Amino acid sequence: MSVLQKLGLRPIINASATLTKLGGSVMPPEVVEAMVDASRAYVDLHEMQRRVGQRIAELTRNEAAYVSCGAAAGLVLSTAACITGTNPAAIAQLPNLTGLKSEVIVHRMHRNGYDHAVRQVGVKLVEIGVGGAYPWELEAAINERTAAIFWFQGGMSGHGDLPLETVIEIANRYDVPVVVDAAAQLPPMENLWRFTQMGAALAVFSGGKELRGPQSSGLVLGRRDLIEAVRMNGSPNHSIGRPMKVGKEELAGCLAAVERYLKLDHKAQALADEQTVAEWCAAWNSIPGVRAQRSFPNEAGQPLPRVHVIFDAGTIGLTRNEIVDALRNGEHQIEVALAGKDGIYVNPWVLNNAERQIVQNRLAEIVGERVAV
Ligand SMILES: *Cc1c(COP(=O)(O)O)cnc(C)c1O
Repeated sequence: MSVLQKLGLRPIINASATLTKLGGSVMPPEVVEAMVDASRAYVDLHEMQRRVGQRIAELTRNEAAYVSCGAAAGLVLSTAACITGTNPAAIAQLPNLTGLKSEVIVHRMHRNGYDHAVRQVGVKLVEIGVGGAYPWELEAAINERTAAIFWFQGGMSGHGDLPLETVIEIANRYDVPVVVDAAAQLPPMENLWRFTQMGAALAVFSGGKELRGPQSSGLVLGRRDLIEAVRMNGSPNHSIGRPMKVGKEELAGCLAAVERYLKLDHKAQALADEQTVAEWCAAWNSIPGVRAQRSFPNEAGQPLPRVHVIFDAGTIGLTRNEIVDALRNGEHQIEVALAGKDGIYVNPWVLNNAERQIVQNRLAEIVGERVAV
């Protein structure tokens, strides 16, 4: 009996996305093996974090790298690092910001649930971009209390915000670090170096999403001095990052995941996803009351195709929510994303071939059978 079965849980067929609440991603064998390997011995954790960081920095063409216990923890540590640098007294003082830099600038349209990770260090978020953003607005927001400018890359970027190039150019003039939350910005693989090569001081990625590393892992990539400050603010040091422990297993697994990811045939993967999307569209469009079309890019702005399926409840005899329930409660538990009031997004991204077929057949069965009745 599997662990999940013993707990009374069903494994999910994840046709949604690499969502944390659905388990992030599934680790490939080489990642699991690296974790098991690391679990068998005692090791100097400081030294292991350094060596893993060096290796990941080389692989990702960055000056330096740090493995955090998830991208959100990476945002906490990046914020702390921009405030304290490598000053031990400042590191010990957090989250008390008396006498330290205490403000982080962010576009209002970038505000999202993950900015709690920045705020938990105690900083005040200073918003720019209220009704369109202007370079003078960013310049006016920068002062001696500014620790960093945070940039959230994703579905919310590109809607009236300043271009990242402009943000970086202004930030550099005032010597303020720009931190990019790129947690879900893989693919494309090149993003591992794109943001930092553009001049962002740090870029933060999830290890447990597209990278298929341990669910509780993340990457902070970028400037050597700031990564050193991240390290000092992180576990196992007694610091604001001590509760965000990264174990030897996550360190080993995350490195294995990065090594694997850089060697993958991303073009072949993209082609396979496009084929599935085309097949799903063809199969579902033949059913009365169902309209299926390719949707690109996805909600996080990733260049990944998925299928937007719209249901005519009158023709099918089922509402969208009833269809979602049926997908969830059949022989397999299939999870999809909601789209508007009458649609869903079905995503082949993390599905294997057998699961792609199951999803195709099951949705057709749910919406097709009713018409015949
Ligand atoms: C997923 C995500 C995070 C958090 O990543 P974890 O690795 O789960 O901590 C942060 N920011 C954005 C934009 C994300 O999509």
